[in-house]
Amino acid sequence: MIRKLVVVLGDQLNRDALVWQDFDPTQDAIWMAELPEESTHVQSHKQRTVLFLSAMRHFAESLRQQAWSLHYLVLGSHDFVGFEQALGEFLSHHQVGAVELVVPGDYRVLQQIKVACQQNATPLNVLPDIHFIAEPGEFKTWLAGRKKPTMEYWYRHLRQRTGILMDDKKPMGGKWNYDADNRQSFGKTGPQAVPAPLMFTPDAITQQVIKDVEFHFAPHPGKLAEFGWPVTREQALAALEDFIAHRLAKFGDYQDAMWPNQAWLYHSLLSVALNLKLLNPREVMAAAEQAYQQGRAPLNAVEGFIRQILGWREYVRGLYWSYMPDWLSMNALNAQQDLPGFYWTGDTEMACLKDSIGQVLEYGYGHHIQRLMVTGLFALLWQAKPEQVHQWYLAMYVDAVEWVELPNVLGMSQFADGGLMASKPYIASGQYIDKMSGYCQHCRYKPKEATGDQACPFTTLYWGFIEQHQELFRGHPRLGMQVRHLDAMSTEKRQLIQQKILQLHEKLA
Ligand SMILES: Cc1cc2nc3c(=O)[nH]c(=O)nc-3n(C[C@H](O)[C@H](O)[C@H](O)COP(=O)(O)OP(=O)(O)OC[C@H]3O[C@@H](n4cnc5c(N)ncnc54)[C@H](O)[C@@H]3O)c2cc1C
Ligand code: SF4
Repeated sequence: MIRKLVVVLGDQLNRDALVWQDFDPTQDAIWMAELPEESTHVQSHKQRTVLFLSAMRHFAESLRQQAWSLHYLVLGSHDFVGFEQALGEFLSHHQVGAVELVVPGDYRVLQQIKVACQQNATPLNVLPDIHFIAEPGEFKTWLAGRKKPTMEYWYRHLRQRTGILMDDKKPMGGKWNYDADNRQSFGKTGPQAVPAPLMFTPDAITQQVIKDVEFHFAPHPGKLAEFGWPVTREQALAALEDFIAHRLAKFGDYQDAMWPNQAWLYHSLLSVALNLKLLNPREVMAAAEQAYQQGRAPLNAVEGFIRQILGWREYVRGLYWSYMPDWLSMNALNAQQDLPGFYWTGDTEMACLKDSIGQVLEYGYGHHIQRLMVTGLFALLWQAKPEQVHQWYLAMYVDAVEWVELPNVLGMSQFADGGLMASKPYIASGQYIDKMSGYCQHCRYKPKEATGDQACPFTTLYWGFIEQHQELFRGHPRLGMQVRHLDAMSTEKRQLIQQKILQLHEKLA
């Protein structure tokens, strides 16, 4: 008889979670499973699968060292597909008093675990995830009665409640937000000697996982040659230290900048360790705040970094659980195009997309502005079906877990929520990409041109998008101006843009 069966998922690899608080190794047991469906419900990038499986096997190793009772299903050693089947089978063959787990990062997985428990009449205790700063119910209370859940106010609320980056009751430095200082580009010459991030050579466990993934998921996208993500808590702590020491100081200045063949720039690369719970957001923010207090990083960098974690990360999680499963069917702009095939191969002449997608295939990584203003922007202007865009992002990024990926993609990037998260769609022409990157210098297209042989597809589609949604945008303070620019355009130019869009659809679809 197992008193309590603790289910540990691949993104719950922290020993300070609530499930461990009254764990009694003499009566309780742990259940972990490597299930194909987690890599196939969207065709997961090989590095994403390796990351999760390797981190799980390392975590399992640490449990075994304590001689705790662990039931671990290894990929390839069983025929189960998903949680419902695998956990259901276990419960049907063992006497289990109750199943306990921390709330999963994916609504789908929670439903499957509920079904497995119901079918076996086993009580299920779903515990809150205390990794996050928001207390259970805090986001819903904050959300209640608000016309619009603006991230900035949620962020200020959490800063006031936690005291992070606060000087008594005032924001440190006197301002809540240093965004205006954080929009520098690298000009025309590009970045100078960016410190390379710490990467980790695969050990024997990771090497075995790499072989397993190559065997079981050979046709999946992504390359494994450069796998270097942290898969243990020790490695995650070393990655944090490396970021604070070498890149944090310039994180703010170049937060929005992009450059060809420069995947990392001054970003932290910590989303992987945070999302698998190898790092706690409190320790990450404390390290950044300490760097500011010791004069090792300026306030614009530290505030900008903390806002991403305390603000955005907590905000999208609150929105995910407040609006699931409705998120999955949102399509406010009625976008109906298929996502172009080059998203899976990087095979395109558009230099910005070729580089950004190539980098995703290589490492499973893209920084925020590449995700929002290159791959996300093109999908939005193309009017790709939000569901397909969501599936691509969930599959291709090593840090993708649905609670964080879905609101970012459907809300922030694709405006499929009709303005729940953003006040307007994040649209721009190729000129924005030119200003913030070095991509256009080496591209066969010209960012200013919307028509003609060298027209930048972003710019052409941008005007097509404004044309199509002009009535929706006309009254908007910022987009209304673009509608007036369109009104001032000659009929001939507007027709040429429409023709060019048709050509693009023939060429790229
Ligand atoms: C279309 C789109 C899809 C995204 N999908 C994911 C995803 O699947 N998983 C994911 O973790 N993030 C996602 N993000 C948010 C963000 O792009 C990544 O967290 C970030 O690029 C990860 O790289 P980093 O660790 O170097 O981040 P940094 O630039 O160093 O930022 C620091 C940390 O802040 C947090 N953060 C920053 N921006 C956000 C945000 N918008 N939402 C939530 N947390 C944030 C992350 O934990 C990140 O590690 C997405 C953003 C967009 C626009
Ligand atoms: S010209 Fe257009 S397609 Fe080419 S890199 Fe610039 S924005 Fe991208």
